[in-house]
Amino acid sequence: MNYRTVLDKIYINSKDFPKMGVVSTSIPELAKVHPDKFGIHLTTINGEEIGVGNSNEKFSIQSVSKALTVALAFSKCGEEIWNRVGVEPSGNPFNSLVQLEFEKGIPRNPFINAGALVIADILVTVLQNPKEDLLHFIRTISGFETIDFNLKVAQSEKETGFRNAALANFLKSFGNIQNEVDVVLDFYFHQCSIEMTCKELAHAFFIFANEGKTKKGNQILTTSQVKRLNALMQTCGFYDESGEFTYRVGLPGKSGIGGGIAALLPKQFAIACWSPRLNEKGNSELGMFALEQLTTETGMSIF
Ligand code: GLU
Repeated sequence: MNYRTVLDKIYINSKDFPKMGVVSTSIPELAKVHPDKFGIHLTTINGEEIGVGNSNEKFSIQSVSKALTVALAFSKCGEEIWNRVGVEPSGNPFNSLVQLEFEKGIPRNPFINAGALVIADILVTVLQNPKEDLLHFIRTISGFETIDFNLKVAQSEKETGFRNAALANFLKSFGNIQNEVDVVLDFYFHQCSIEMTCKELAHAFFIFANEGKTKKGNQILTTSQVKRLNALMQTCGFYDESGEFTYRVGLPGKSGIGGGIAALLPKQFAIACWSPRLNEKGNSELGMFALEQLTTETGMSIF
């Protein structure tokens, strides 16, 4: 498979892609990003590394971090985590409160904000130095020591995160947040503020493509855990557009409002792309288009 040719073509096509969608303004600090950035990095099981565009520029991974925090919680606590968060698509916006009331404080899945807050709470409980340990985990699985929080973004989100504060308090009222709400929110805002390049993100997601093992061969997750997390990314990874992403792209993955998307094909490759203009569901317009071209041109998808 000549991925280089396909990615070069996608990059050329991106120049004519209509400038649809807008940069997220929900976190003031994120609104400062240039809307026309675009990069992709693909890393294969066979050791190929292909980057195009702004693939070595850091961006705010936002909700892409939810795939990494649930991986860490799953590796530490095993199946127990599913007693506190479900595995069903929500069909509702990522920051919705409504289902929580009917489902007695058990969020539908770990990729909506309510679910990610429960996972954050679990990590705050089980990690010794939660924020540092999370960074250490992401640095270890990706192999990049420079990955860090953007403290301005974390602060900006803290100042405007009323919806997340409401969700955390609501969860606490059902007993599904065990630590202080402020501590859990602080952890969550920091995880969302992590900055990575497409290359770093593709390398972090490599564990999901490589049966739980990093590039260096460290086993982080079992094959069964990887199967479960990939299934969750496939069915729930793209807000209330997970069906559309599956239909068009056909890969498990996770998106974020910073415009990043990380995805993978088991036993083949991991890929990350970044373009900050979002559609109305919060997914990167150009990122989805680029990944759709990749799987259509190469015929390489889950389906
Ligand atoms: N930090 C954002 C929030 O919690 C993440 C949103 C996203 O990327 O989906 O609202």
